[in-house]
Amino acid sequence: MNKDIRNNWTKEEITDIYSTPLLELVYSAATMHRKYQDTAEVQVCTLLSIKTGGCPEDCAYCPQAARYNTGVEVQSLMQTDKVLEYAARAKDAGSTRFCMGAAWREVRNNRDFDRVIDMVKGVNELGMEVCCTMGMLTDEQAARLQEAGLYAYNHNVDTSAEHYEDIISTRTYGDRLKTLDTVRKAGISVCSGGIIGLGETMEDRIGMLHTLSTLPEHPGSVPINALVRVKGTPLQDNPKVDIWDMVRMIATARIIMPQAMVLLSAGRTEMSISEQAWCFMAGANSIFSGEKLLTTPNPGFDEDKAMFELLGLKPREAFKEEKELVG
Ligand code: SF4
Repeated sequence: MNKDIRNNWTKEEITDIYSTPLLELVYSAATMHRKYQDTAEVQVCTLLSIKTGGCPEDCAYCPQAARYNTGVEVQSLMQTDKVLEYAARAKDAGSTRFCMGAAWREVRNNRDFDRVIDMVKGVNELGMEVCCTMGMLTDEQAARLQEAGLYAYNHNVDTSAEHYEDIISTRTYGDRLKTLDTVRKAGISVCSGGIIGLGETMEDRIGMLHTLSTLPEHPGSVPINALVRVKGTPLQDNPKVDIWDMVRMIATARIIMPQAMVLLSAGRTEMSISEQAWCFMAGANSIFSGEKLLTTPNPGFDEDKAMFELLGLKPREAFKEEKELVG
């Protein structure tokens, strides 16, 4: 039995890891990273908002919630050819995973969903890993997406079960976990993580990592986001996330979920290259590249290419996990 891969972490154990003196923590995480991942590689993903704004949910951090006045323009579901053009451009720029986000509470069985299925097939045919984030979904919908070639489905737990009610009131933590279960059972890779900077305590951060690391299987990808403070959202005046808190979260996630892709997600525009390098050192091995992260700004492809050159990183090829399993 591999003692590093555990689903029975306790909150006390995770707290001990998270509270290790910073340099020692980064060293331990970097050591675990070397054991399970190719540290020269970082996965490059691109996230496109295929249906924007007007969402009925009340996630306190989100500029797309209809109830907040954030200036986000509502846009109905994009046409398939436009999405595929965007995906092809992302692929040319070096991206290997293409994520499509729709601001829906849940997936509905209608013509829009049929169109998403076409998009999934089209992106899959481009040879990219396809991911969707579209809210809750049923077993049947998950099966349809899987058959169409969906590689991963993102659904973040966001924060701890205890803090969740302060951030979202329109669905429960249990709903979130049920969706993750649906995705896993459909044979789709689970992408799930959370956000720091939501006004949570250290215990909440540990609680979130505990939820993720004690799922029946660790998520394939774990996005760690720093809150992007968007004007008009209830969290607009929250303090900026401290980079060392990001490094601690990433390092802890790397140690307790060694085989996951740890995704240094939102918040990179407010980080220097040196700060991002610390995150890679602590075990982050995936980023979103391309000017936008759904509706918020994000570093562009050229900027990231220059960073990769400087740090001696190379993009991870698509479907590597499957190839390794076969090989
Ligand atoms: S995070 Fe998703 S579900 Fe929540 S308000 Fe934004 S678009 Fe809607």
